[in-house]
Amino acid sequence: MIDLHTHSFFSDGELLPAELLRRVEVLGYAAVAITDHADSSNLDFIIPRLIQAAKDLNRYCQTRLIPGIELTHIPPGLINELTKKARELGARIVVAHGETVVEPVAPGTNRAAIEAGVDILAHPGFISREDVQLAKEKGIFLELSGRRGHSLTNGHVTKLAAEVGALLVVNADAHAPGDFLTLQMAETVALGAGLSRSRYDQLRRDMAAMVERIR
Ligand SMILES: [Zn+2]
Ligand SMILES: [Zn+2]
Repeated sequence: MIDLHTHSFFSDGELLPAELLRRVEVLGYAAVAITDHADSSNLDFIIPRLIQAAKDLNRYCQTRLIPGIELTHIPPGLINELTKKARELGARIVVAHGETVVEPVAPGTNRAAIEAGVDILAHPGFISREDVQLAKEKGIFLELSGRRGHSLTNGHVTKLAAEVGALLVVNADAHAPGDFLTLQMAETVALGAGLSRSRYDQLRRDMAAMVERIR
């Protein structure tokens, strides 16, 4: 099991990175990314601390901690600049907080994030076919969300991604201990959204390959 989008109390999550990692280690995870919410105010605060936590904890844990960031409610015109800055600071996974239907995320965020070359476009809401196509061309993962509210459009994302052949991930977007997905629940999120068994197996291989790439 791998999850590439979770929150610690460096933003609005409930857990310290060490406890988050321990909780998913007990669930048998191979890897987890902590991707706390950030804008210009805290990017340089969060990333170095997650890198330090990963450096220390990865020496002792079965689960690999990947330091990441979720660029959240960034004006579309600023997303490219902050994506570059996040990478310069050492974020190994850059998630963009996409156009979920349950928050007033600025229109154009999905497109700007894809053009900026983030790694994962999270909860992209009613993403357009053109944007799914561009994500495919750029090798950017679209997320099926395990989080209430964000998950409402998983069926839409699955349908377009399957038609176009775009990459998908399943992430919990966990904020609290009860939010982490088991392997069984992750499968339910994907298959329940209409993904075929074979495409789901491919999704798990793609996620594993991504973790290998950033090792
Ligand atoms: Zn988000
Ligand atoms: Zn999130």
